Amino acid sequence: MTKPPASSAKCEMPKFRIVVDVGHTPDSYGALSARNDPEFGFNFRLGRLITAKLRDQGFAAARLLVTDGKARPSLFKRVSAANDGRADLLLSIHHDSVPDKLLETWEFDGAMSYFSDRFSGHSLFVSERNSHFATSLLLARMIGRQLKEQGLHYASQYTLPEMGRYRRQLLDRDFGVYRYDGLVVLSRTNSAAVLLEAGSIINRDEEMAMNSLERQELIAGAVAAAMGKFCEKW
Ligand SMILES: [Zn+2]
Repeated sequence: MTKPPASSAKCEMPKFRIVVDVGHTPDSYGALSARNDPEFGFNFRLGRLITAKLRDQGFAAARLLVTDGKARPSLFKRVSAANDGRADLLLSIHHDSVPDKLLETWEFDGAMSYFSDRFSGHSLFVSERNSHFATSLLLARMIGRQLKEQGLHYASQYTLPEMGRYRRQLLDRDFGVYRYDGLVVLSRTNSAAVLLEAGSIINRDEEMAMNSLERQELIAGAVAAAMGKFCEKW
């Protein structure tokens, strides 16, 4: 990280438009946690905190993007919102699960529920089809570095054959950045774009951690610190 990527715009903190995209919608809520809580709620709470931290840090133009409706159209709504608002970065917030074949069952609150405790950790995704791929990768690495410095580990299972269609190429083995070319929110946005899977909510222990304000503060602080460092340099 000695020279700026060719495609990066100069970062002026108050003007740098970060769109914090809450993954999924209330209707199409994404994954279900080990305790049957929808992913959308986790994404919303963390996204809101990240936006607040960014603003505290001086990113006055940072805003939270909440989308409604069905899954597929909502992806294009996000891309339009980011492009129409001339975003400098789209940061999409998600929480992780596992492929269905890896799920195990347990009883929670009297109901048969699904879990998998095998994997844990966060992960970052970028698309090589994004027109600001170099900046996206740089930002993802910087976020991953800050998360690591907070003592958090990344999810390493995405390179395993058993991940099937979810298998990804690891672009940065120090900071857990994977390549996910086809993802609409990463490939169709005109700005740099990074997707953060903040942690696994199908893992019973990690779900509890992700529900704690302590962990949410740690992650939101790491993201804000990474963005601050990016702007200091460029
Ligand atoms: Zn998701």
